[in-house]
Amino acid sequence: MKLKIGNREINWPNALYLVLTPFAAVIGMIWWIKSGSFNWNTVILACLLYLFCQISITAGYHRLFSHRSYNAVWPVRLFFLIFGAAAFEGSAMHWSLDHRNHHNYVDQNERDPYSINKGFFWAHMGWLLFKQNDQVYSEENTKSGDLYSDKLVVWQLHNWVWVGVVVTFVVPTIIGLAWGDALGAMVVAGLVRSVLNHHATFLINSLSHCVGKQTYSDKHTARDNLFTAFLTCGEGYHNYHHEFPSDYRNGVRAWDWDPTKWVIKGLSLVKMTTDLKTIHEEIILRKRTHMREKRLHKKLAGSSFKFFGSTQAQILESLKMKYEKSYQQLAELRMKLQTLSTKYQNKKQAQENKSFVKLELDVLKEQVAQAKYDFQKSVKDWNIMRKRILAYAKS
Ligand SMILES: [Zn+2]
Ligand SMILES: [Zn+2]
Repeated sequence: MKLKIGNREINWPNALYLVLTPFAAVIGMIWWIKSGSFNWNTVILACLLYLFCQISITAGYHRLFSHRSYNAVWPVRLFFLIFGAAAFEGSAMHWSLDHRNHHNYVDQNERDPYSINKGFFWAHMGWLLFKQNDQVYSEENTKSGDLYSDKLVVWQLHNWVWVGVVVTFVVPTIIGLAWGDALGAMVVAGLVRSVLNHHATFLINSLSHCVGKQTYSDKHTARDNLFTAFLTCGEGYHNYHHEFPSDYRNGVRAWDWDPTKWVIKGLSLVKMTTDLKTIHEEIILRKRTHMREKRLHKKLAGSSFKFFGSTQAQILESLKMKYEKSYQQLAELRMKLQTLSTKYQNKKQAQENKSFVKLELDVLKEQVAQAKYDFQKSVKDWNIMRKRILAYAKS
């Protein structure tokens, strides 16, 4: 039956699954508890499956397949593809194609598949109730992309439904037999767990695009939100992620709650993941400082006062010029370092020439370290002045 709302056709299997499963999960939980079947082993199994599926979406579907922010050996990719299928969010191929459009056209209602500007519910799950743009999933589009060269991704594209059903409903039922709670395991570790996986991921597209801090940019709606970071193994630092999507980390500071980055980093120690991409610290710090400056201007709302004979705006501007200058110097040195490193890695270089390049490289590395220190110091000076001005404005 073709039912259209506006010019959009309802995707019946998706719509029925997404609308009915939350109700079925609640009824299932009530039955499980009231019938006296509650069992801690079932709860542990559900938590484990939740984590496996969530990590497969965050580290696998998202940071690996959609953004290519690192590489992984085939057993790791297979793990992500199997448990990602059990998250019931579609194939890694289609998930990535949609997600790349989300980044490329963020907040544009016509091209961002889950644009928050079409409302909270649309971004959360409304978009999934309708058939998607055929163009995005077309054979031509699928085959021309980089993901098509990964045989495992192509295999999962055609097999994710039965894999998802087996991992979600059959496996927990069999495991639950071990402690006499087969049906409970199917309901709690299968159905309830998959509904929780769904809505945790969906909250990134809805809540993390309207509640939280715009730490690095206000050019898009993405926000850093600790609550969604907690639910999704670290995806909630969404403002950072939209600003630097190629970084394998979302929570960039060491203490940020981002278990996904710890898993990817941990696997790199045993060489199961490689080429972990990160953004240079100074680029991150500069964007953060620019946003601090914007917020400061808003707080002061045009009021002006003098420090040592200059207005606060003049003092801050001169400190800003200082850090911008050190940033430029550092960027130039980084460029030189990059060129020289490529020259050094060139196998055709003569051996004696190579030792000379190595020497140059060591000197340049020291200069980069010094320039980085200078930049961080000048940002610190700007920041101290910002705090003083804010304290003065309050008094
Ligand atoms: Zn987003
Ligand atoms: Zn992304």
